[in-house]
Amino acid sequence: MPRQFFVGGNFKMNGSLESISKIVTTLNEGNITAPTEVVIAPPSLYLLSVKDKIRKEIAVSAQNSYIIASGAFTGEISPHQLKDAGIPWVIIGHSERRTLFGDTDKLVAQKTKTALDAGLSVILCIGETLEERESNKTIAVVEKQLAAVKAEISDWKNVVIAYEPVWAIGTGKVATSAQAQEVHHALRGWLSKEIGQDVAQSTRIIYGGSVSAKNSKELGEHLSHVFQLVRMIAAQPDVDGFLVGGASLKPEFIEIINAGS
Ligand code: PGA
Repeated sequence: MPRQFFVGGNFKMNGSLESISKIVTTLNEGNITAPTEVVIAPPSLYLLSVKDKIRKEIAVSAQNSYIIASGAFTGEISPHQLKDAGIPWVIIGHSERRTLFGDTDKLVAQKTKTALDAGLSVILCIGETLEERESNKTIAVVEKQLAAVKAEISDWKNVVIAYEPVWAIGTGKVATSAQAQEVHHALRGWLSKEIGQDVAQSTRIIYGGSVSAKNSKELGEHLSHVFQLVRMIAAQPDVDGFLVGGASLKPEFIEIINAGS
């Protein structure tokens, strides 16, 4: 079974009632021609209104959730509450959570476990800093991040892995397709070795970091070329979609969604 192309839109802490409503209208009217699974993640305040208004082909995601079902944790949202409210997805371990809000590998792993146990699907973000890349630690870093999750979960079927090099997020410096592919290939190898061949074959590994309509076509074409090779030679695949920040707030998001065709 080929993996369905997946595109996530991470609005981060951006938008207002008015601007988010405009984005929803753009997406509802947009011509989506590719068989892409699309998930958008507005700030939590807007989740319910977006869920009610967005076309049914597009699902909604929170940007974070905590490790407890309910209790005295001011400011947090539990995955159980997301589930209760009909929000099916959550982004866990985004680098902004890791660097600005102290989400350690362990906490990210626990959040992933709690979200999955609550019945959510998880976009699990991993990625190296520029310093780590320059000291050739990229693969070691992302494998360590995944190993922490492996210690907490056994079922990966509701996990999409987002490889997001920290140096590419919001910087305009998109990874080259070769850089993305190298890491995705290594990640799939890790999944195969550490979890199992089935999980390695079925898990979507998406790329994030300055993806825009300008470069997504290039990445997308490269990757669909790889998809063809993969189908022909049954080799290990690589990139299965994108996690998009800034460009998900713009009409070009539709073009990125369609880059999977
Ligand atoms: P960006 O963000 O596309 O604005 O670089 C990606 C992300 O942080 O998920």
